[in-house]
Amino acid sequence: MQFVDLHKYHESISGQIDSVIKEVISESAFIGSNGNRFIKEFETKFSEFIGVSNCVACANGTDAIEIALVAFGIGAGDEVLVPALSWYSTAEAVASIGATPIFVDVNKENCNIDVSKIERLINAKTKAIIPVHLYGNPADMVEIMIIAEKHKLIVIEDCAQSHGAMIDGKVVGSIGDASTFSFYPGKNLGAFGDAGAMLFKNVNVAKIARQIRNHGQEEKHTHIRLGRNSRMDGLHAGILSLKLDGLNEQNQKRIEVAKRYNELIHANIVKPAIHENIKSVFHLYVIQVEDREGLIEKFKSQGIPFGIHYPKPLPHLAPFNIEGGYESANHVCGRILSLPIHPFLSEEEIQLVANEVNQHHSC
Ligand SMILES: *Cc1c(COP(=O)(O)O)cnc(C)c1O
Repeated sequence: MQFVDLHKYHESISGQIDSVIKEVISESAFIGSNGNRFIKEFETKFSEFIGVSNCVACANGTDAIEIALVAFGIGAGDEVLVPALSWYSTAEAVASIGATPIFVDVNKENCNIDVSKIERLINAKTKAIIPVHLYGNPADMVEIMIIAEKHKLIVIEDCAQSHGAMIDGKVVGSIGDASTFSFYPGKNLGAFGDAGAMLFKNVNVAKIARQIRNHGQEEKHTHIRLGRNSRMDGLHAGILSLKLDGLNEQNQKRIEVAKRYNELIHANIVKPAIHENIKSVFHLYVIQVEDREGLIEKFKSQGIPFGIHYPKPLPHLAPFNIEGGYESANHVCGRILSLPIHPFLSEEEIQLVANEVNQHHSC
C-alpha cells in the first residue's frame, strides 16, 4: 500500500506525456520566460479552470506566496495573518520578504483558520491575510472576505492543497484578491518536479509579479525592479496542461475514497465532515485520535503508511519561537493522523486501514 501513488495515473497517460516531452525537446522550450508557448498555454488553461484572468506561472508554491506578497507592496513593517497550522511555507514566505507573520489559531473540527479569532489580531500594521484550504478542505471564505473588506485587507488564498475545491459552486482561488498554487509532484495537480503559480484579479499586480519572477524585467534587458529567477520550466508547463484535463476526475476518485473511509470508520473517531455545499478535494484524509502513538505502532506492524500534517503549530517552530498559546492548534497537533489517500486506493486497502483504526479504538 502506498500513501500517495503517482505512478498509476502517469502510466495511464504515458503516451501523451511522452509526446509533450518530445515537443518541448524539439522546440528547446525549456525555460519558462515570457515567450515560452508551453507556459502561455498552461497560464491560459489554468486561468480558465479557476476563473481568474491573470495567471503567472512560477518555480514553486513557496515563491508564489512570496512574489504575490511583494507584488502587492507588502514588506518590512507589515503584518500578515496566517493560520497557526499549515505547511511551513505559508509563514516562511511572509517572514522571508521581511513582513511579520501573525498566527491565528485554528478550529478543532477541520484544522482550518478559526475565523472568530481573526479580528482581535488586526491593527494598523495588518496588511493581508493568507487563508489556507488545509488538506484540500476550503476555509470559511465567506466570513474571511467580510472581515477583509471591513478592515481593507488583501486576501491571498494559499491553494497549494486545494486544486479544484469549491464553496457553493465557486472554485477556491477565485474568491480572494489573489491565490497561490503549488504543483509539487504529490499535490492534487503535480508536475514532474517543483512548480507553482499565482492568480490575480488585478492586472497591474499580476504584471509586477510577472516581472519579479523573471529578474524584474519588463522586457528583455529592461530590468525595472529587483526580482529573482522563479520561472516555471517548459517541461512542467506542458505536463501540467495535460494533467489539468484529468484533475476533476482524479479529485472525484479521492472524494470517493474519503466517503468510504467516512462510512467505515466508527463515529467515536474525529473524521472529516463532508458537507453538501463545500467540496473538499481531499489532498489528505486526516482523523484525530487520542492514542496516536498506539495506532502508529499498529500501522507500522501492518505496513500501513501514514503521515502527520503537521506535528507542531507554526508559531512554535524555531524561527518564530513563540511559546505557548494556540491551544486548538496544539490540541490537534497531538492527535491528527493522515491515512493513505490517492485516486487509486483499492476497496481492500480502504477496508484494511479502516479496520485497523476501528479495532485499535474499540480496545
Ligand atoms: C506544498 C505547500 C506549499 C509550498 O509549495 P512548494 O511548491 O513546495 O514550495 C505552500 N503552502 C502549503 C499549504 C503547501 O501544502
